[in-house]
Amino acid sequence: MANIVVLGPWDAQALLLLEQQSEHQIYHYKETYEIKSLPVNILNKTEALLIRSKTHLNSEHSKLLPELKFICSATAGFNHISNSFLSALPFAIASYCPDAQTQSVTELTLGFIFSQLRGFTENPYTGKRPAHRDLELSETTIGIMGFGRIGQSVVHALKAISHKTHFLIYDPYVNIESSENVRITSRWEDMLNDADILSLHVPLTQKTHHFFDDSKFEYMKPSACLINTSRGAVVNNHDLAKHLDKKPEFKAFLDVTDPEPLPNGHPLLKIYKKSNPKQLFLTPHIGAYTQKAFYDSCISASQKCLFYFKNKKFEPKKNKDLPELSPTLPCRAPWCDD
Ligand code: NAD
Repeated sequence: MANIVVLGPWDAQALLLLEQQSEHQIYHYKETYEIKSLPVNILNKTEALLIRSKTHLNSEHSKLLPELKFICSATAGFNHISNSFLSALPFAIASYCPDAQTQSVTELTLGFIFSQLRGFTENPYTGKRPAHRDLELSETTIGIMGFGRIGQSVVHALKAISHKTHFLIYDPYVNIESSENVRITSRWEDMLNDADILSLHVPLTQKTHHFFDDSKFEYMKPSACLINTSRGAVVNNHDLAKHLDKKPEFKAFLDVTDPEPLPNGHPLLKIYKKSNPKQLFLTPHIGAYTQKAFYDSCISASQKCLFYFKNKKFEPKKNKDLPELSPTLPCRAPWCDD
């Protein structure tokens, strides 16, 4: 009998599924994210590990998990699982659950976009209309960086509301052509120059880490709006704070920051507290914090785990033979780190 270790909050039905359908011992640590704090005798026999994004794994952790063969993160991001951890476990299958979170992040992004257009998070109610009139979708250019699941879903949803919306998409790794009102660009300069609202939907990799810094903000319109629901470190948060300070018309909506939460005294928090009307709107990483996304991601990760145990006679690295386990971590994607 092997151990299945589940770290962090997990849906009760998804746990029940594991308990009822597996012959293995399940250990659920709902308030623990750190592998090093678990008992060695449990880690030694752990064959499957189910985690969320607060559990960070690097090569040191692989030594603590000598029997690990299956790992699944109930998340869409995967930057918390380092390549050095995976290479130290050449026979382990690594999977994640991106589809479970697409809708919830899309809906939050739409909320930010409409808030930018109509200004309802900017001012407290005074009974008076603002001096300027608001904008509609068709009057703005929405930039999308990263045209994967969430990027595409945001575009799809906005098109359904107004087919006249103009999009500018930057994702050098997808092969699509421009169509009416959807311009695909291979130059990030175009995306930065022309977007009125720029929404980020990229993974955190070496290439996207601090992609947005002083040098990039300079390309953006002074009145542009940056939306980040991807990962905090895609944006250099100190440079963003400086830019917001310098350009009072520039706005940002951040669901993710670097670090999380922002410590007292962080320049972004100072701007958040000071600016009126609000230039900066912050949410505490709630992109996938809906009941449905939580349920779907836990169920999906648990089902993948059960599927692994039922089919482990397959040679693990040949994940293409195990469709129920897909998508496996996109470590071989062209945009991933070496
Ligand atoms: P996805 O893998 O489906 O799409 C990512 C896209 O980014 C891909 O099309 C890829 O080609 C593109 N890309 C990669 N590197 C790029 C680069 N340097 N420049 C431009 N494009 C690049 O992922 P997804 O499901 O759409 O999720 C996107 C990200 O959103 C996740 O990696 C995760 O970090 C984040 N996320 C956040 C929350 C939250 O709670 N806020 C929830 C889910 C996902």
